[in-house]
Amino acid sequence: QAALYLVPTPIGNMQEISPRVLETLKNADVIACEDTRNSGILLKNLEIKKPLIAHHEFNQDASIPGILALLEQNKKVAIISDAGYPLISDPGNRLVQEVIEQDYPVISMSGANAALNALVASGLETSRYLFYGFLDSKSSKRKKQLEELKMLPYTLVFYEAPHRISDMLADGLEVLGNRKICLARELTKKHEEFIRGSISEVLEVCEGLKGEMVVVIEGAKKEDLKSSMEEAMNLMKEQIA
Ligand code: SAM
Repeated sequence: QAALYLVPTPIGNMQEISPRVLETLKNADVIACEDTRNSGILLKNLEIKKPLIAHHEFNQDASIPGILALLEQNKKVAIISDAGYPLISDPGNRLVQEVIEQDYPVISMSGANAALNALVASGLETSRYLFYGFLDSKSSKRKKQLEELKMLPYTLVFYEAPHRISDMLADGLEVLGNRKICLARELTKKHEEFIRGSISEVLEVCEGLKGEMVVVIEGAKKEDLKSSMEEAMNLMKEQIA
């Protein structure tokens, strides 16, 4: 029966692929992937040979109608990204919306996700968190985005590229203050590392670090909210006076 399968792939450790994921990929008629070369390598290692179609941000206007046409022909389509879950800081969101609109089943399954791996090992509050993905690469925009998050009493989870980590943490320190943080690096891989401390402590040691990274930052505390409210009240009083 026609359906779109959202299939998570490993974020490093190749053993993190479930029997269900393997079976779904083996039973799919077509696999849509972010990058056919990268996924081609993964699938070859898994000894799965299937027709691959590219589906990414820049070709989705053309690839979505193609995938809908396959579903119309009663095909099973699996979507994968380079690593972890499709749709999570990866392509697929619009596709899923259009597949739902056309009333085809959308099926998801469990698997690896860098944000959750980092969050649970961070030592920070896990009961409520906000996954943000990538902040903007420009400092001015990044600071505005951080301003919007500043008052939220939820642990914040970001993805970041290694060459931007120092700049991102410097902006974080300026906007959010010296909160607790965990920089999770190379998750599930041989050199997995968790660097925990205050933003300023981690900033001191992060220059030149390589590999894939997730940044988990403590949410706003009641005291922060109180002092921000007081600041705002004082500002209003000044303006009125
Ligand atoms: N779809 C993926 C997921 O479900 O986690 C995320 C894809 S996003 C394009 C890639 C970013 O995820 C990397 O830049 C890094 O921030 C994070 N990431 C992916 N794999 C990671 C790993 N093994 N260790 C740490 N961070 C990782």
